Amino acid sequence: MRIPFVAGNWKMHKTAAEAVSLVDALFPQLNTLHTIERVLCPPATALAQVHQVLKGSAIGLGAQNMYSEEAGAYTGEISPLMVKEFCRYVILGHSERRTLFGETDESVNRKTNAALAHDLIPIVCIGETLSENEAGQTANVIIRQVADGLKGIDARLASKIVIAYEPIWAIGTGKAATGQDANQVVARYIRPTLAGIFGSGAAQDIRVLYGGSVKADNATEFFNQPEIDGALVGGASLKAADFIGIAQAAAASQQ
Ligand code: PEP
Repeated sequence: MRIPFVAGNWKMHKTAAEAVSLVDALFPQLNTLHTIERVLCPPATALAQVHQVLKGSAIGLGAQNMYSEEAGAYTGEISPLMVKEFCRYVILGHSERRTLFGETDESVNRKTNAALAHDLIPIVCIGETLSENEAGQTANVIIRQVADGLKGIDARLASKIVIAYEPIWAIGTGKAATGQDANQVVARYIRPTLAGIFGSGAAQDIRVLYGGSVKADNATEFFNQPEIDGALVGGASLKAADFIGIAQAAAASQQ
């Protein structure tokens, strides 16, 4: 049984005070959804304050990125030890990191290994561009991102990994994939590649999320798919009612 997982990626939105206000608005209802794993990923500058608010609750806190080294001359970066002070989760290899900040499968692999070594749960993002999709390259891209991104990871740690399949053409565009198409990408390319790396038993334990224009009104379409275990939500995670609606849809999909 894979526990449904819903995470909000707030990207570069919200000062620390604004982040605390959004958590205050989310908390009462999000806190009641005990059957799903729910995670908030505010900007790094808000992690300490949001951590104080969430302390003692079952709502998880995640960073949006980190570097793979523990400390050193890496201006502007934050380390796994620093993330660990406040968070249990970290988003890695988001497409905005890959396309705007030069991240590669190799850097994502180093970061994923570092996250697991520090007992953090990595949410590893993968996904094809529109031109790759139109050129029939989705399978190649996805298989490569999974295989290279997760290279060298001990199969005993596999169940801690969360994969977010986020077709880049669906992120922030309002044009989500269909539930069926996203499910097929997981069933045909992601899960078999995970099985090749970790063995088929371990691959069955790994949660795979869909991300890309998930809203309260289309979330159920994804959560009803057998291979999709939740969602990584961008825009809609910034509005309390919308994110609560998505989390409630995830909880309802279990019944
Ligand atoms: C994301 O940034 O991970 C994302 C899925 O964004 P949105 O929900 O806004 O498409």
